[in-house]
Amino acid sequence: GELGAEQAGLVIAHYGQQLDIEALEGDRKGTVCRCFVRANIDSLVTGDRVVWRPGAGEVGVVVARSERRTLLQRPDKFGQIKPVAANIDHIILVIAPEPEPHDNLIDRYLVAAENTGIPAVILLNKDDLVTDRNRDAIDSLLARYETLGYPVVRTSARTKDGEPAHQVTELVRDQTSVFVGQSGVGKSSIIQTLLPEESIRVGAISESTGKGTHTTTTARLFHLECGGDLIDSPGIREFGLWHMSGDEIEFGFREIRNLIGHCRFRNCRHQNDPGCAINEAAKNGEISPERMHSFHRILQDMAEQQARGLIAD
Ligand code: GDP
Ligand code: ZN
Repeated sequence: GELGAEQAGLVIAHYGQQLDIEALEGDRKGTVCRCFVRANIDSLVTGDRVVWRPGAGEVGVVVARSERRTLLQRPDKFGQIKPVAANIDHIILVIAPEPEPHDNLIDRYLVAAENTGIPAVILLNKDDLVTDRNRDAIDSLLARYETLGYPVVRTSARTKDGEPAHQVTELVRDQTSVFVGQSGVGKSSIIQTLLPEESIRVGAISESTGKGTHTTTTARLFHLECGGDLIDSPGIREFGLWHMSGDEIEFGFREIRNLIGHCRFRNCRHQNDPGCAINEAAKNGEISPERMHSFHRILQDMAEQQARGLIAD
C-alpha cells in the first residue's frame, strides 16, 4: 500500500540491482528516482521503457518492461551475449582524417551494426583536417559507403566555440543515438558540444551514488538540448570490436548478404572456390575491391582469433 500508481518511466542508468528511472508522466515527470526491479522481469538496460510505481521514500519499483524497438548487445568477457542498451534509433560511426581510417576497421563496425539491425550513419569528424593531400582518399572512401546506402555526414567538432555543429544537431535531433568509433576520432569532443554542463553534472552526481566499478562501464542516457537522447558508455564507444562468426560477417556486408547460399558449394570459403557467387559479383564490379578485400581480411582475422582461442583452451 506504500507504492504510488503505475506509470511510464525510462531507464536512464543501471547499477547492479538498482536503476535510475525517469518519470515520463505524472507530477514527478522529468525527475529521476532510484528503483528496484520486481524479480520476475528479465534484465533491464538503459533506454528501456518501463512501468514503475513510485515508493514512499526515494526508492520505487519497476513492475514491467515495454517491448523494445531495438537492442544493442555485446559479448561480455566470457563471450556471453549481454544486452547493453535499448531503443536506439541509429549508431553513429565516427571517423576522421586523423587517426587515418582503415577500411577494414570501418567495415568491422558496420558488420557489427548490421547484425544488431540498428541503422548506421557515418560521421566524418575533423573536416577541418581535410587537405589537398588527403581529400581524394577521403572523398572516395565516403562515396563508397554512400553508394552502399549509408548516410554520410561531415562535420568538425572544433570549429565553433563549444556550440554543437549544425550537421550534428540535425543528425541527432529527436533520435536516440550512440556514438561509436576508434579512439581519437573526436567522440568525446562531439558529445561535449551536445550536452549542456548541467546534464554532465547530473550524471556525475548520480555516478557518485552508484556502486564503484559498475558506474564506469554502465550505459547512461542523456537528454539533448536540441531534442533526442544520447546513450553513452566506454563499452558502447568500443562497439563492434569483438569476435564475429563467419555467418555474421557475411550478413554484415550488405552487398554480400543477398548472395548467401548462391555459391556452388555449401562450404564455399569465397576465396578461389569454383562457382563462388561472391567472387563472381566482385568480378562483375557489384562489390568494390576495397570491400571485397576487407571481407576477406575480417574473415581471416576472425578465423585466426578463433584458432588462438581454441589453443588457449
Ligand atoms: P575520442 O577518443 O573519439 O573521444 O576523441 P576526442 O574527443 O578525445 O578527440 C581526440 C582529439 O581530437 C582531441 O585532441 C580533440 O581536441 C581533437 N578533435 C576533436 N574534434 C576535432 C575536430 O573537429 N577537428 C580537429 N582538428 N581536432 C579535433
Ligand atoms: Zn563463395
